[in-house]
Amino acid sequence: MPLYEYACKKCEHRFEILQRIGEGSEGLECPECESHKLEKQFSTFASSSSEGDSGFSTASSGCGTGGFT
Ligand SMILES: [Zn+2]
Repeated sequence: MPLYEYACKKCEHRFEILQRIGEGSEGLECPECESHKLEKQFSTFASSSSEGDSGFSTASSGCGTGGFT
């Protein structure tokens, strides 16, 4: 099964989950805030140095609330 990455629209928490191909985000919820407003991310965790929107890329230094301003 492929690994998909989701981002919570409510708390911006990002997490990965194993899903079958073609399966949507129905039934999924954010492990942080239990919100169902999730947005599927496309696996771009390799080279994200040339993207304009930062602050959302390096969320590896904490569980949820890191350095948001
Ligand atoms: Zn959330």
